Amino acid sequence: MSDPKTALITGAASGIGAEIAKTLFNDGCHVVIADLNEPDYLSSLASETQRALYVPSDLSRQESCQALVERVVQEFGSVDILVNNAGFQHISPLEEFSETVWEKMLQVMLTAPFLLTKYVLPGMKQEQWGRIINMGSIHSQVASLNKAGYITAKHGLVGLTKSTALEGGPFGVTANVICPAYVRTPLVEQQIASQAQTLGISAEEVESQVFLKASATGKMIEPAEVAAMVRYLCSDQARSITGACWTIDGGWTAQ
Ligand code: NAD
Repeated sequence: MSDPKTALITGAASGIGAEIAKTLFNDGCHVVIADLNEPDYLSSLASETQRALYVPSDLSRQESCQALVERVVQEFGSVDILVNNAGFQHISPLEEFSETVWEKMLQVMLTAPFLLTKYVLPGMKQEQWGRIINMGSIHSQVASLNKAGYITAKHGLVGLTKSTALEGGPFGVTANVICPAYVRTPLVEQQIASQAQTLGISAEEVESQVFLKASATGKMIEPAEVAAMVRYLCSDQARSITGACWTIDGGWTAQ
C-alpha cells in the first residue's frame, strides 16, 4: 500500500477480524473496528496513536451500517479497505431452523456486507482505489449438515463479491472473498466444546476426528494465515486480483 489507508473491519473484536485489524494496523493503516463488543486489545493500539478506533455497531441494523460509514468518513476522511468479517454460526436441521435466527444471519452476514459495500463504493471510486474483502468460508463452496443459514449467507457473499468486482473494476476497486476451513477462534472453540459434549469424546478427539477429517494437512488454520491473505489482497501488487474466491482449507476441497 503506497500511502496510509483507512481500513474498516467488521467483527474485529475477536478471532479472525481481530488478527486482521492488528495486521493492517502494523502495516500503518488507520483501523476502524466495528463490533457489538469492545475489543480487549484496543488500548494497546490506541494508547500509542490515534490510528485505531472502535465503533460499537450492530450490523443486523441498516441504520447502524450507515452510521458506521459516516463515522469513519468523519474521523478519517474515507474508507479505503472494507473487510466484511462479522458473523456467527447456528446449528440446526432445516425443519427446526428458527426463522428469527435465519433472518438475523442473512442480515449480519449478507445484507450488512451489501450495505457497507454500497456506502463505501462511491468514495473508493472517487479515489480510484479500493479493496473490499468478504469473509466467506469453505461453506461458500460446499455444504455441511445442519448449517443452512450460514451456508446460504456464505454462498451469497460469492455473488456479491463478483458483482462488486465487475462494478468496481474500472475504478481501481477490487473485491475478493476468502474461504477458510476451520480457523482456531472462539466461534470454532465453542463448536468443538459442544460437539465433545454431544458425542461424549474429548475436545482433541473432536478436532482430529470431526473438524479435521476432510483436511489433507490435518491442522487447524490460525487467524494469522487468513490475515496474511488479507494483507496481500490489500497490496498494490494485487490490483488485478478481483472477483475471486481464495480458499484456505488445508486441502479440504481438493478431494
Ligand atoms: P468470532 O466469533 O471469533 O468473531 C466474530 C465477531 O463478529 C465477534 O467479535 C462478534 O461480536 C461479531 N459479530 C457477530 N454479530 C455481530 C453483529 N450483529 N454486529 C457486529 N458484530 C457482530 O468468529 P471468527 O471465527 O473470527 O469468524 C469471523 C468470520 O470468519 C465470520 O464471518 C466467520 O463466518 C468466518 N469464518 C470463520 C471460520 C472459523 O473456522 N473460525 C471459518 C470460515 C469462515
